[in-house]
Formats: sequence, C-alpha cells, structure tokens
Amino acid sequence: MSEQVLLRNIDNPNGHKIETYEASGGYQGLRTVLRDFAPDEVIEEVKSANLRGRGGAGFPTGLKWGFVPKDSPLPRYLCCNADEGEPGTFKDRILMERDPHQLIEGMVIAAYAIGCRTAYLYIRGEYHLSIDRCQQAIAAAHARGYLGANILDSEHSLEIHIHKGAGAYICGEETAMLESIEGRRGQPKLKPPFPAVAGLYECPTVVNNVETLACLPHLFRRGGEWFASIGPDHSPGPKLFGLSGQVKRPGVYELPMGMALGEMLEVHGGGALTGKFKAAIPGGVSAPMFPRSAFDVKMDFGSLAAAGSMLGSAGVIGLDETASIPVVARRITEFFSHESCGKCTPCREGLTWAAKILRRIEAGQGQPGDVEQLEMLCGGIFGNSFCALGDGAAWALGAALKHFRPEFDALIAAHSQAG
Ligand code: NAD
Ligand code: SF4
Repeated sequence: MSEQVLLRNIDNPNGHKIETYEASGGYQGLRTVLRDFAPDEVIEEVKSANLRGRGGAGFPTGLKWGFVPKDSPLPRYLCCNADEGEPGTFKDRILMERDPHQLIEGMVIAAYAIGCRTAYLYIRGEYHLSIDRCQQAIAAAHARGYLGANILDSEHSLEIHIHKGAGAYICGEETAMLESIEGRRGQPKLKPPFPAVAGLYECPTVVNNVETLACLPHLFRRGGEWFASIGPDHSPGPKLFGLSGQVKRPGVYELPMGMALGEMLEVHGGGALTGKFKAAIPGGVSAPMFPRSAFDVKMDFGSLAAAGSMLGSAGVIGLDETASIPVVARRITEFFSHESCGKCTPCREGLTWAAKILRRIEAGQGQPGDVEQLEMLCGGIFGNSFCALGDGAAWALGAALKHFRPEFDALIAAHSQAG
C-alpha cells in the first residue's frame, strides 16, 4: 500500500474537524507559503512540481495561474469546481465530506498565488453533506485566522463563498459554471478568452478542481521535490481513483499514477463481480473504454492519451462478462443527450438521434446499417461540438462500436433473422 496523503484522515470519524486536520500537519503548508514565498514563487514551485489539474483535462496548474495578467487593475477570482458530475466519479465528494480543510487550505494558497481576495466554491447541489462540511470548515478556518482579513497576520485576505449547483452536468464546464455563478443559465462560452484572462464578471479567474487544490497544502508542507517524486515524471503527485461498476471492492483509492489499468481493477478493485472483466472505462464515461486485451495501459495522463483515451476524472468503471456493451453505450449516450445544453446542433440533435438508434437496437428492432449510421453520427458530432460534452459523448460511443461491434451486430442480426 502506497503512502496515503490525500486520504490520510479519511477513516477518522473526526477527519472533517479542524483539530484533526491541524494535528496531522494541517495549515502548515499555508504558514510556509505566507512566511517563505512571494506569490510568483508559489507559481514557480507549482510549475516545477508539475501539478496537473485533477478535474479532467490535466492542464498544468502553475501554467494556468501564470496566465492571470499581472498588470490588470481588475479583481481576480478563484473558483473551485466542485460540480462533480461525471458518471463514475466521486473522489471530490469524499475529500469534501471527510477532510474539507485540505481544500480550504489549498484555496487560500492558490488565492495568494494569483492575488485574489474573493473565491467561490461551486458545489454540486446534490452533495448535501459536502456543502455542510465545507460550510463548517470555512467557519472554523475563519475562527482560527486562516480565512478573512490579514490571514495569519499577513497582507493576504480571502473570503470563500459557497455556491450550490442545481443539477446540471454542463455547469461542470468551467465557462458554464461561471455563467451559473453570475445567475445566468449555465451554457458554455467561447474560449478564448480563457477564464484566466476574462472569467467571472469578465475579470481574471482561475478555475481549479477540488483535488487539484487539495494537493497544494501537501506540496508546500513537504516541498515540490517530494511531490514530483511520486509517480511518473510527467504525471506526478498523489492521485485519487474512483473504482466502480462490476468490481468487488468499489471505492475511492489513492494510488500513484502509472499503474496498469488491469492491476488497479484486479488488485485494488478485487476483480470482476462475475467471471472476468470484459472492458473498462478509465476516466469517467467521457473517456473511451478499453477491451480487456488493452488492460496493460498505464493510468496516467500521457499513457492514456497515447492509447486513445484519457485519465479524465479518474472514475474507473469495470465491466464484467455479464455486461452488454450496447446497453452500456445506450445508457452513456442517453445521459449525454439528456445533459446536452442544446446550444449547438451536432450535440443536441446528433445525440438524440444516436440514443434513439441505440434504444431500437436494444429493443430487438435494430436494422442493417444502424451501426454505420451511429458511426456517421459520431463523426459528425466529434470535432464539431461547441464544448467537451459533445466530443466526449461521441468519443465514448465510437470506442464501444469499434471494440465491441460484434455485440451490436448480433443484436441486429437476431432481429433480422426473427423478421
Ligand atoms: P480544456 O482542455 O479546454 O481546459 C483545461 C483547463 O485549462 C481550463 O481551465 C482552461 O481554461 C485552461 N486552459 C487551456 N488552455 C488555456 C490557455 N491557452 N490559456 C489559459 N487557460 C487555458 O478542458 P475542459 O473543457 O476544462 O475540461 C474537459 C475535461 O473535463 C474532460 O476531459 C472531462 O474528463 C472532464 N470532466 C470532468 C467532470 C468531473 O465531474 N470531474 C465532469 C465533466 C467533464
Ligand atoms: Fe451544449 Fe452540447 Fe454544444 Fe456543449 S456540445 S455547448 S453541451 S449542445
């Protein structure tokens, strides 16, 4: 078992309390930052530690912070994206419920680096306990001088406001989330300009995921070199993986990146519920699935991208021999079709059409040419959608068709023969 960093307090029933957090070294990273680092040096340390975003895209965190214009007279904002909505993904929820001070401390450090005095924590509305625990953590941090004016007697001041989401997956897309905070309907906006330059209220805004921010206290308490020494060079640091689906031991696991997908599922997930695994989705349902023959792929940003998928939200879903891939593909496509914001035609119409064909195939009414039609739709949606939702949906469906076409063909052929 590798060292547990992000999950070290997770089994402690008082892990969410500030006393527990302080007793395990909590807020020491912030003290170090305020004592020893200028804001620019914080950014440089995060760059050299090579912390990459844990929300899905893996974008280098220090680089993103560095895009905030230094000479802008406008206020800067920090928004933590806690609208965890990707199916199979529940790692941020565990952090917020069980050890929320890691996130609060991380937000204070990030805000110091970018010169921000007002931060928003956008939490998925269904995460009631996360919201309560983060509210309590903010109040406790205030009472101890880690938040508010002149934090720990420094020049740095910060207020954190919680904003509850209202059940729309698309509000996890950063520009839609900023629209939602401003009180508008959550729909993606054109990038560039990226939020780092013109985000919330058209001001420079950094959007970071919960787990990304929760890494910061550890990075500064133990140093960038220590952080960079965990896992492969290009994907360093502690990492959470959510294991779910047809695995014997579902849950959130802290493991170094670079482990083989098969090892993660067999050793940590306890193996398949029934028989052997047939396939697995490595990073939330936007990430294309792999057949069992590809289970030696390494679970890190670069290796998964090279293999035609992505680490994404690190929600690993195991599918065993009892799973029907056409049914899995139908459920994923229906999810994305339901959550499509409707702004652009390829995603709105294409996913509705694809879901209809998949329902027909599953109901035993598939027709010759349906798979080709689905492939055509995937080609029309991918690369022509306004945001990552449409692309992810088409990419995921395309992989199911590519690796498991015989299952689709068999369902269609059974109907043709019966007819
Ligand atoms: P992206 O690659 O467009 O951007 C990543 C981040 O880098 C953004 O914050 C963006 O503003 C910033 N960025 C990129 N280029 C920049 C530049 N030139 N200048 C300034 N900033 C720049 O990806 P995305 O659309 O933010 O995220 C997509 C990912 O989100 C998907 O891969 C998916 O896995 C993931 N996702 C996660 C969840 C979840 O619940 N965690 C839900 C849905 C999707
Ligand atoms: Fe909306 Fe889908 Fe277009 Fe994204 S791709 S803007 S979710 S319609």
